[in-house]
Amino acid sequence: MTDNKKVFITGASGGIGSAICEKFYNNNYKLVLVASSDEKKKKLHNKFGDKNYYYQIDISNEEMLRDRMKEISSEHNDISVIVNNAGITKDNLILRMKTEQWKSVIQTNLDSNFIIIKSLLPNMISKKYGKIIGISSVVATSGNPGQSNYVASKSGLIGLYKSIAHEVAKRNINVNIVSPGFIKTSMTDMLNEIQKNEILNKIPMNKFGHPSDIANLVYFLSSEDSNYITGQNFNVNGGMIMF
Ligand code: NAP
Repeated sequence: MTDNKKVFITGASGGIGSAICEKFYNNNYKLVLVASSDEKKKKLHNKFGDKNYYYQIDISNEEMLRDRMKEISSEHNDISVIVNNAGITKDNLILRMKTEQWKSVIQTNLDSNFIIIKSLLPNMISKKYGKIIGISSVVATSGNPGQSNYVASKSGLIGLYKSIAHEVAKRNINVNIVSPGFIKTSMTDMLNEIQKNEILNKIPMNKFGHPSDIANLVYFLSSEDSNYITGQNFNVNGGMIMF
């Protein structure tokens, strides 16, 4: 059990991130939120007010991320939930993919999780409590043409989280992944009508998900109701792929 209700969330301004923030905010959590720019940080501050905490971090910048996480782990030794939600795509076929496209996606989507978890885990270990939740993707398991960098980063997360889950299972820390299918956000708004219809045809429920579909599961995984669940990858995809 913990009385500390403080959650750390990356990608807090995004489509899925906003729904996750609102869910925790409405359940009286203190929020420690990460934005990629000062402008986004100010918007979050305006939305959630002075009683929560805001940091501007470019999580693809290893040095900046390490420095700011050092600050955050000492200013907030009572973070009980980590939600690593930030992510980007830079799609290209493998033969055309530039090294920059590969590296920036791996750094943003995968390396950041390693640095964030390493920074905040010691506090969780001392408090003997923690819930760590990563956001992967349906394509981590299926693969996807044109997204080898994104898929590698999202599959990497599943391996990373399962391994950490093993390492901290006896310390009352649960580590799980949520893998969205197609959720209506700016990330999927980039698709054209033909692409959207092709995808809809593959979804038995014949609709895209809503960010709250992801937020609800993330919140459950952060709660005491999920205490016996660790090292799992949960797919939320309207039946698009049934594993
Ligand atoms: P989104 O609206 O584009 O949000 C992405 C978030 O990532 C943004 O809030 C952005 O922060 C943050 N971010 C990106 N680069 C960053 C950087 N260098 N430093 C700090 N923050 C950075 O996308 P979304 O759909 O909500 O996606 C959220 C997560 O779900 C991602 O990991 C994505 O891969 C995953 N996912 C989404 C879908 C889907 O259908 N939407 C499907 C599968 C998986 P700022 O807003 O501060 O710039």
